[in-house]
Amino acid sequence: MRLVLLGPPGAGKGTQAARLVAKYQILHLSTGDMLRAATEAGTPTGLAAKEIMARGELVPDSVVVKIIEDRIAESDAAKGFVLDGFPRTVAQARSLDTMLAAKAQKLDAVIELEVDPEKLVDRIVKRAEEARRLGLPVRKDDDPAVFATRLAAYRAQTAPVSAYYRETGLLKAVNGMEPIDAVTRALGTALERHLHV
Ligand code: AMP
Repeated sequence: MRLVLLGPPGAGKGTQAARLVAKYQILHLSTGDMLRAATEAGTPTGLAAKEIMARGELVPDSVVVKIIEDRIAESDAAKGFVLDGFPRTVAQARSLDTMLAAKAQKLDAVIELEVDPEKLVDRIVKRAEEARRLGLPVRKDDDPAVFATRLAAYRAQTAPVSAYYRETGLLKAVNGMEPIDAVTRALGTALERHLHV
């Protein structure tokens, strides 16, 4: 199974992706996680991305497309994957189609977590508080000012990706404002329905 999870930052993509991974035994491919790992490892890609990420802007398409292309070429990706945080631009979505077509593969579904943008800042502040309480590292880009830039990048560059997938009939929308377990159930139902029509 090959899935994409769409939705603005703070929509709960990471949480729901982890549950899809457990349910379907697929890989969780988060470009944000991969970029943070590259930054920590000090690779050239990581170093180039570091400042851009700290500002809350998008890393160039060519960089993230290469990361995903390399990762899905690995043998364990054959069992399927859920993409979290990719594609974030229509150009990335087109590149993904091209790289999958070259392997005679395609996406099975794209699930969008619909959330109220007004409530996202609140959520992100809570995410940072929770991390602090648990003694976990707090993401620098969860700072409210940087988060506003991330939200603006989402509106300008990522929102059109939904329309791209709506046109291909792959898009399923789920209300992401419900409690986590309810979102998981709704997502499961939407996916099962979509796969069995
Ligand atoms: P995330 O963990 O998905 O919120 O991503 C954190 C940051 O990594 C984003 O704010 C971007 O700077 C960068 N990033 C992650 N995925 C992408 C992508 N597909 N395209 C461009 N930049 C990305």
